[in-house]
Amino acid sequence: MRVEIVAVGTELLLGQIADTNSAWLGQALAAAGVDSHFHQAVGDNHDRIVLALRTALARADGVIVCGGLGPTQDDITREAIAEVMNVPLRRDETIEERISQLFGARGRHMPPSNGRQADVPLGATIIEPTRGTAPGLMCPVGHKVLYAVPGVPHEMAEMFERGILPDLRRRQVEAGEESVIVSRVLRTWGTSESALAEALQGRVEVLDASRADGAGGRGTHEGQPGGGTVTLAFLASGIEGIKVRLTARAPDAAAAAGLLAAEEAMVREVLVGRFGDIVFGIDDETMETAVAGLLLARRLTLGTAESLTGGLIASRLVDVVGASRWFRGGVVAYTPDVKQDVLGVPAGPVVSEAAAVAMARGAARLLRADVGLGITGVAGPESEEGVAPGTVYVGLALPGDEVETATLTLPGDRPRIRQYSAISALDLLRRRLSALPALPERAPSAPGVA
Ligand code: ATP
Repeated sequence: MRVEIVAVGTELLLGQIADTNSAWLGQALAAAGVDSHFHQAVGDNHDRIVLALRTALARADGVIVCGGLGPTQDDITREAIAEVMNVPLRRDETIEERISQLFGARGRHMPPSNGRQADVPLGATIIEPTRGTAPGLMCPVGHKVLYAVPGVPHEMAEMFERGILPDLRRRQVEAGEESVIVSRVLRTWGTSESALAEALQGRVEVLDASRADGAGGRGTHEGQPGGGTVTLAFLASGIEGIKVRLTARAPDAAAAAGLLAAEEAMVREVLVGRFGDIVFGIDDETMETAVAGLLLARRLTLGTAESLTGGLIASRLVDVVGASRWFRGGVVAYTPDVKQDVLGVPAGPVVSEAAAVAMARGAARLLRADVGLGITGVAGPESEEGVAPGTVYVGLALPGDEVETATLTLPGDRPRIRQYSAISALDLLRRRLSALPALPERAPSAPGVA
């Protein structure tokens, strides 16, 4: 089953508001196993809305049009739908009465224009409103269907779940194609999109072939009950690394989850074999939440000393809820004398590996933290102490007087170099912490025992 979304509103075209409704609907349709090949946005113009709806109906089995159901003169979705259906609008007195009562309950008279919200194309069914005043519409067009929902996001979402989704499910069952789509994102840091794509090319080819086969994933994940298909996609996310998105589609949720788990295991195996530990999180997990989890599991605290990142690392760390449990604090040490006086960096070049280690040790000592992270480098655009922009040194001071260092050569302009430095330093910390053993969970103390 294929459903197209048409978002109505001139403000969408002018960029005054972002079309979050289509994004939300896109996700909701995917989760329901409904394909969506096109999204349209169209202004508040009768002829163009009619054209958009006809275009959508020509290439999809169903259309969801959102927005333009309000009471004002520019809310003309109802009229456009009536034209597409080739039927007149009829005022529904029950709806009109209810809207009038809503106004009455607030001690106001219903303005005549609100009566328009009770206009329904002949042959359409109402989706009762529970929040706003505008009802949604379910309009048969031949064997296809056109759903109309209000533009206000929470009204649209509620009406989709309650009024549209059950109808879509019924149509899927009738068409014998009920399915569920689930996806997961593996977030990576430390390699390029092209290197990732190349490493996983073999996997992509196998998956493509099994889909083209119409084999429903057969031969791909043998032993998975119920068949299904999997796709892989790569999304470059700038300073947040490269994402690998796995999407599984299967007749039911259990089969889709099984396919996804099996594919994730295969992809992880390929990535670890080729690049090592580059997956730092899944879905919404950030680098800092990964670091937080590792520190908590090892009952370690962290202190930072930053030069070129000027507090970016500390700022990312305190984005994590409950950071005070493991983050002691950070020092921004920018000039050489501050690095020396505050952190105890020895005299000599302050853009160096030795300086990064001394900063890390100084941070751990000064902030009474188990782990210290120091970072120094050249953000550019000019070289410093004969060191080229993009050269960055990271030092970690670990329990047992161990140290770890990394020298990075980062691309880009000053803002990029600073952002890349922050996430790269956190990634170094993440990898090093993963190598330390996690401690067993503390047994909860017995009730009543202090
Ligand atoms: P109502 O009956 O409540 O007036 P409506 O169907 O007339 O709703 P619109 O007037 O088109 O809807 O939009 C109402 C508000 O909903 C807009 O001002 C905007 O804030 C929001 N909105 C509309 N369309 C979208 C969209 N596609 N994505 C996100 N928000 C939207």
